[in-house]
Amino acid sequence: MTLSHFPEQQPLLTDAVIIGAGPVGLFQVFELGLLGLKAQVVDSLAQPGGQCTELYPDKPIYDIPAVPVCTGRELTERLLEQIAPFSPGLHLGQEVNRVQRLASGRFLVGTSAGALFEAGVVIIAAGVGAFQARRLDAIGAAELEGSAVHYRVSDPAAFAGRDLVICGGGDSALDWALALADKARSLVLVHRREEFRAAPASVAKLRALQHEGRADLLTGTVRELDTAGGGLHAVRVLCADGVTRRIAADQLLVFFGLHPKLGPIADWGLELERKSLKVDTARFETSSPGIFAVGDINAYPGKKKLILSGFHEAALAAFAAKEHLSPGEKVRLQYTTTSPIMHRRLGVDAGQGEAQSQTAA
Ligand SMILES: Cc1cc2nc3c(=O)[nH]c(=O)nc-3n(C[C@H](O)[C@H](O)[C@H](O)COP(=O)(O)OP(=O)(O)OC[C@H]3O[C@@H](n4cnc5c(N)ncnc54)[C@H](O)[C@@H]3O)c2cc1C
Repeated sequence: MTLSHFPEQQPLLTDAVIIGAGPVGLFQVFELGLLGLKAQVVDSLAQPGGQCTELYPDKPIYDIPAVPVCTGRELTERLLEQIAPFSPGLHLGQEVNRVQRLASGRFLVGTSAGALFEAGVVIIAAGVGAFQARRLDAIGAAELEGSAVHYRVSDPAAFAGRDLVICGGGDSALDWALALADKARSLVLVHRREEFRAAPASVAKLRALQHEGRADLLTGTVRELDTAGGGLHAVRVLCADGVTRRIAADQLLVFFGLHPKLGPIADWGLELERKSLKVDTARFETSSPGIFAVGDINAYPGKKKLILSGFHEAALAAFAAKEHLSPGEKVRLQYTTTSPIMHRRLGVDAGQGEAQSQTAA
């Protein structure tokens, strides 16, 4: 855990910060909510769902209890609907990079976007780590990151009237090439192979743009950025025919996919087993009291990296979190079917079932 100081800023007070908005992090919100605990969720990705939405949004999942089949995207949508009554804060596109234990025993948690939370517990649901963009390995690229070299588009208008080079051959590269072709002054898509991984319809559209002279395609790899005097002027592409070509460019977009990185979590002094966080199987607490770990990120004897295992872990971690926040208080098990307190927390009408059956009769 870093002990570095946080800038003077009022933190957002909450019961729990959940690191990771994958399926397990989302379900954690629900389990905490049933016990009356509020959560703020942070994820480095721009959308919730973790591996489900990032790696297999349209693939069917068959082993979610009582849901015979749903896609990764559908599972995420259902989880978001299920946690809606608890109105969690969702802080996307930012990485939790700092966790500091305060003298009070509570935690200050900071993100790469400057968000700051003060929480009673921290629940790490970080899966295989924070997904990060694969970087371009070319001379001069690192220095221009954020100014002329980008790994995501936050403002498409910023590319209007620019000489744009886009690297990559997947859906993101082609989708953005199609979206920006009419805005940019010039657009060249550079991909290392003739074949693309993107949807065939997108490839056909891009080839049509090339035919009309509104975009260009180049097979090769960007090796060097021409940055003489600061800024980007051109990129040098080693093409498939062995010739290095200079392409005028003042903006470069790179879409080489994402890879997970355990990142700062490895530096918080928590006991690790290989690249996972060691937890006990009664509380799913890490080696640091008040910091829990659920889902693919944790390790214990018999661990199976399955969504349903993570859901079970989230339920037990919620009870342990509640006990941590209210020491000495007995946390009673209640059923969602019959508990008026839980109905209130869920915002459902306790007499709803009765009313419906009366109507049906
Ligand atoms: C192709 C494929 C198919 C699969 N099919 C199935 C299946 O059929 N059934 C099944 O049960 N499981 C399946 N799985 C496994 C399942 O997806 C994982 O078990 C599940 O996603 C784990 O959920 P999680 O919430 O623990 O982690 P993840 O889904 O990995 O989510 C973790 C999130 O934490 C974020 N994060 C990490 N570190 C930080 C940080 N420092 N700051 C901010 N955010 C951070 C990440 O960006 C990520 O979004 C499959 C996996 C793959 C790859």
